[in-house]
Amino acid sequence: MDTILLVSHVDPDGALPRAALEALGAAKALGLPVTAALFGPSVAKAAAALAGTGVAKVLAVEDAALAEPRYATDAAAAAALAKASGASIVVAPATSRMARVMAGVAQRIGGRIDTHVTQLSSEGGPTAFRWYYRQRIEAKLRRKERPWVLLVDPGATAAAQADGGAAPAIEKVAAALPAARTQVTGQRAPSSGEQTIRPDAKVLFVAGAGWTKKQADGQPHPEKAEALILSFVRTAGASLGSSKSLVDQAGEGQKVFEFMTHLNQVGQTGSTPRHPKGLATCCHGEEPHVVGWRFIRERRAVNLDANCGWARGKADVLYVADAFAVMEKVNALLAAKK
Ligand SMILES: Cc1cc2nc3c(=O)[nH]c(=O)nc-3n(C[C@H](O)[C@H](O)[C@H](O)COP(=O)(O)OP(=O)(O)OC[C@H]3O[C@@H](n4cnc5c(N)ncnc54)[C@H](O)[C@@H]3O)c2cc1C
Repeated sequence: MDTILLVSHVDPDGALPRAALEALGAAKALGLPVTAALFGPSVAKAAAALAGTGVAKVLAVEDAALAEPRYATDAAAAAALAKASGASIVVAPATSRMARVMAGVAQRIGGRIDTHVTQLSSEGGPTAFRWYYRQRIEAKLRRKERPWVLLVDPGATAAAQADGGAAPAIEKVAAALPAARTQVTGQRAPSSGEQTIRPDAKVLFVAGAGWTKKQADGQPHPEKAEALILSFVRTAGASLGSSKSLVDQAGEGQKVFEFMTHLNQVGQTGSTPRHPKGLATCCHGEEPHVVGWRFIRERRAVNLDANCGWARGKADVLYVADAFAVMEKVNALLAAKK
């Protein structure tokens, strides 16, 4: 019978990453007991967050060097935990920190790894689900090789419920961490005037190139567009997505919204966000863009063109209307509600 281990780093404040609770939710669907393994300078706070989740024991590697994400130390800690547990299936949340080291960990423990897992289930044996070809095909995978390492994508599964009660017992594991040659001296984020990407937002607001095109009066109105978009994103707490055409305009010397970068791009060559609702405005709804909407559960679009891509089964609701007028009204309603 397989034995299951959930392995994760702790956050800089010592908390358990939310993605770890989601990976635990996925792991529990295998129908087998789950042991947790945590690494960081101190794991007590994160272990307490597992109280009432059904996890009975937490294996821990604690070391000041694990305060900073660093391949050598993170990989050594995760490999020591996986080895100490003897688990045949090792589930980890695909945070940037775990995603960076788990392929190496799989190699060190003589296992195999599958990434971008969106669901686990027990269908004649442990089964992992993932999407291929930019979310166009869903596959179910089973493997004979063990240990089997599985990186679960954040936002794909419901987090395990922590009902409180006594924190699971912590069992320390010794790990020989290598001397750290790399030191983190600071952080630099991609330049963007305002943080507009909010993975936890309920609504994704997508702006397309139409916002910068000539409008009914024969003139483009990019400043007005900018004000309408930012006002909605701020008051609704929405995350801002973009079509490729809009973010590519920088290279074409056209007006570009300063708060928008290629990181906002949704689609085949962009991101695949997972918000419950999405609203596309001034965006045509072409397949390479809409494939990035695969996991948006309710999709609406505003477009002047009744024959745009959204009309062809890509959106649940298409408003054939001027997005400038619609968003002005929506923003006024939101402001009145505040
Ligand atoms: C290999 C490949 C990969 C690609 N990957 C991606 C990707 O990851 N993401 C992506 O987005 N695209 C991608 N594309 C490009 C994609 O095919 C489209 O060209 C792009 O999505 C079009 O962007 P758009 O809809 O914003 O612009 P347009 O096609 O220019 O559409 C603008 C829309 O705005 C509407 N509009 C204008 N004014 C108003 C108004 N006042 N009110 C309402 N509507 C208005 C127009 O009716 C029009 O439908 C890819 C293409 C290729 C070949």
